[in-house]
Amino acid sequence: MLEKVIPTKIYLQESELPKSWYNINAVMKDKHAPALNPITKKPVTFEELSQILCDELAKQELNMTDEYIPIPEEVQEFYKMVRPSPLTRAYFLEKVLDTPAEIYYKFEGNNTSGSHKLNSAIAQAYYAKKQGLTSLTTETGAGQWGTALSMACAFYGLDLTVYMVKSSAEQKPFRKAIIETYGGKVIPSPSNTTKVGREILEAFPNTGGSLGCAVSEATEKALNTPNCRYVLGSVQDHVILHQSIIGLETKVALDKYGIEPDMFISCVGGGSNFGGFIAPFVKDKIEGKAKYKIIGVEPASCPSMTRGKYAYDFGDTGKITPLLKMCTLGSGFMPSTNHAGGLRYHGMNPIVSKLYHDGYIDAVAVEQTKVFEAAVMFAKSEGILPAPESSHTIREVVDQALKCKETGEKKTIVFCLTGTGFFDLAAYSAYNNNTMSDYIPTDAELQKGFDTLPKID
Ligand SMILES: *Cc1c(COP(=O)(O)O)cnc(C)c1O
Repeated sequence: MLEKVIPTKIYLQESELPKSWYNINAVMKDKHAPALNPITKKPVTFEELSQILCDELAKQELNMTDEYIPIPEEVQEFYKMVRPSPLTRAYFLEKVLDTPAEIYYKFEGNNTSGSHKLNSAIAQAYYAKKQGLTSLTTETGAGQWGTALSMACAFYGLDLTVYMVKSSAEQKPFRKAIIETYGGKVIPSPSNTTKVGREILEAFPNTGGSLGCAVSEATEKALNTPNCRYVLGSVQDHVILHQSIIGLETKVALDKYGIEPDMFISCVGGGSNFGGFIAPFVKDKIEGKAKYKIIGVEPASCPSMTRGKYAYDFGDTGKITPLLKMCTLGSGFMPSTNHAGGLRYHGMNPIVSKLYHDGYIDAVAVEQTKVFEAAVMFAKSEGILPAPESSHTIREVVDQALKCKETGEKKTIVFCLTGTGFFDLAAYSAYNNNTMSDYIPTDAELQKGFDTLPKID
């Protein structure tokens, strides 16, 4: 019998590309609790949601019934410019680790923005254009979302204002340069261009900002600008829906070569790449067809799943956005400034939170220096400099592969490599110069964040 040969890179033919996104909400037997209007505390309606979001995105956000949602043809065409992304067998990493495990990664960094975020950005800009809007606002933390959205807005001729977390804007001036190259306007947040920004600056004059705060500013700006909407790059269910393209392509590639995975691993910031990556596999798990282990990896400095509360919370510091039932550290949680950016949001997407709460998925928290140790190992062995966020995933993959080495088990591990680290060289320098530290919040510090949780009965 011939031994099965798996190529280093598995690409898909055009005829194999997904034509619909996958909506996890439809397959969940027990749905997550609805988003609530922050003032009335009643479930948000389409009418309310569509004041902030584009109509079609508001519809997708509330869709709990349609499993497959067609990808508009124009979006499918754009995807062909940057997709399908390859599923790569990490032969070289396996060798370095001397592990019996088989490791595969889906690489989402093959576009200028350098991450998976373009998958949702292009869909969102498309729907905005179709609705006749002329401008969008958004927030960006590490900068990838702002970059991806600026590319999408340039493609559809929409104006864009990006509120960029101040510490990131200072650490990553080149992100700003790309966003501006694509025609976007960058404002470091908190800023004095909004009421909520001015209030936060007064309370915390030296703050490096946070995603929650940038969300508040971008939302306020959208509400006060005609023909403008706010768009998000993570946390919301419709973003996970668009990111399901990652998981759907992965599934086709695995099936094509008869690869039977044991484990899926990816990092969780607001949950979008993770939710999209695991979407078709969670379906199998919920329907009792498979027993995969599915692991979300978060930073020990911002541990919303492993140490957070499962409760209703605000999505933003300014308490403007709908209340979401999620794993959260409290919207008042301010991550430590020595955290190297990315994955620093206080909450977690409601689908991912509910799956975790119901035991379909696991979560682990990893420390920053260990993350960069794994990042360097991966960069040297596989030839790709990974984003710090993706390196959280790599840390856990390496640990799982080393566990296989100890036990002799031949597990098949599949992970999502969300992006490249070219804009995070300041963090790599800090690691190389031994100036990077690990910061783990104490229970007392976390309690301060929990104290900001709204009381919902
Ligand atoms: C934004 C980002 C993440 C985290 O965001 P999610 O919404 O949790 O996916 C992870 N990796 C990269 C490269 C990113 O840009």
